Amino acid sequence: MNAKNAEIVSIGTELLQGVLVDTNGLFLAEVLHGIGIEVSYRTAVGDDRQRIHQVLRQALDRAAVVVVIGGLGPTEDDRTRDALGDVSGRPLILHGETLERIEERFARRGVPIPELVKRQAWIPEGFVVLPNRHGTAPGLLWEDGQRLLVALPGPPREMRPLFTEQVLPVLLERVGSGQQIQTRTLKVCGLFEAQVEERISDLLHTDHPPIGLLAHPGEVHVRMTVSGTQEEVQIQLEEWEKKLRDRLGDAVFGVDEERLEEAVGHLLRLQGKTVAVAESCTGGLIVHRITNVPGSSDYFERGIVSYSNHAKEDLLQVPSPLIERHGAVSPEVAVAMAAGVRSLARTDLGVGVTGIAGPGGGTEAKPVGLTYIALADAQGEEWCEHRFQYDREGNKLWGSQMTLEMLRRYLLKIRVVA
Ligand code: ATP
Ligand code: MG
Repeated sequence: MNAKNAEIVSIGTELLQGVLVDTNGLFLAEVLHGIGIEVSYRTAVGDDRQRIHQVLRQALDRAAVVVVIGGLGPTEDDRTRDALGDVSGRPLILHGETLERIEERFARRGVPIPELVKRQAWIPEGFVVLPNRHGTAPGLLWEDGQRLLVALPGPPREMRPLFTEQVLPVLLERVGSGQQIQTRTLKVCGLFEAQVEERISDLLHTDHPPIGLLAHPGEVHVRMTVSGTQEEVQIQLEEWEKKLRDRLGDAVFGVDEERLEEAVGHLLRLQGKTVAVAESCTGGLIVHRITNVPGSSDYFERGIVSYSNHAKEDLLQVPSPLIERHGAVSPEVAVAMAAGVRSLARTDLGVGVTGIAGPGGGTEAKPVGLTYIALADAQGEEWCEHRFQYDREGNKLWGSQMTLEMLRRYLLKIRVVA
């Protein structure tokens, strides 16, 4: 069977009304591409039996693999099962095992089973049932000569494991070329995209550089894509990673899914240091990010959102004359916030952040985006100034990003000086 080309069909009227982003389709496109299956079409179609039928008919005419996502639920708008029956010419029959599984799930939760839910046990005759550990709607798989039709439930936390555990092995067996495509992303902070490009320019001046750059708020992602056998892919990835790290050094803070707050948490734990945060313009975002990391209580002691001048005086003992003299957005106040929260929390490190998020509140001398970040330790304080030029949420995000980066640099013992 030539399973080299595939089509993804995402079901749901929400997708067509602009209220839901088709992240399932993106996920599948990436995985299929990665195993050497070309995705030739991605379609979104509303919850309409006839339209789904039409799209599936067309997809099966031109692709060897068709993956359908969504619309397998129990409600009236979930029409995928009917359409699968239509396109395969098979009647829906009650699948005893699936009904039992559904009944068990409800029994375990101690709630009566709604009659509608039982609809999920009706499946087109001859389809293979893929049990769903995370929900009631099973996945469905049908092989018709040269073609493979797979249907998966819409919720990503159900779809992803189902696909990875039960569909991917079948596809790998069908593709069978032994060729793989793999990617690895090095994440960089503290350099602009152009600076990253400059540093690695010699690697980009080849005919087929396997490297792409992607700028995100406050970080640059350097993505390598290589292909070959499993062994070749591993060797190439290691080689390219080494070349890139030689040029980018400490600016690389993580690989693939690793986030900046995790890299900082890792360093804090490694060095046995604790931290407390006092933030103003970022409104708690820094602490939100730090505490998104499991186990952060090992190194994070407290966070204070001291938004008003009164809160800075009241909660952090920032002297009122200091605020009057220099203004709330000043290096002096950032330093006093950092030192204040550190001494109150009795941590190794204290962080203070104050700035103007915008869109109002800026002056010529202190424009929107002006942000001071200070770090206090037992030896004293350091601070830096940023002038962000984004909207309110952008400035907050950059504020949190640059604060985490300052912490990281401090922990790496590379002092940043304003
Ligand atoms: P359910 O049993 O939850 O109804 P289902 O298979 O019928 O599952 P849908 O009703 O299509 O799936 O979608 C359920 C939810 O799954 C959606 O509200 C949405 O949150 C998520 N979802 C569905 N399709 C997608 C998609 N293509 N990308 C991202 N999320 C999706
Ligand atoms: Mg549904």
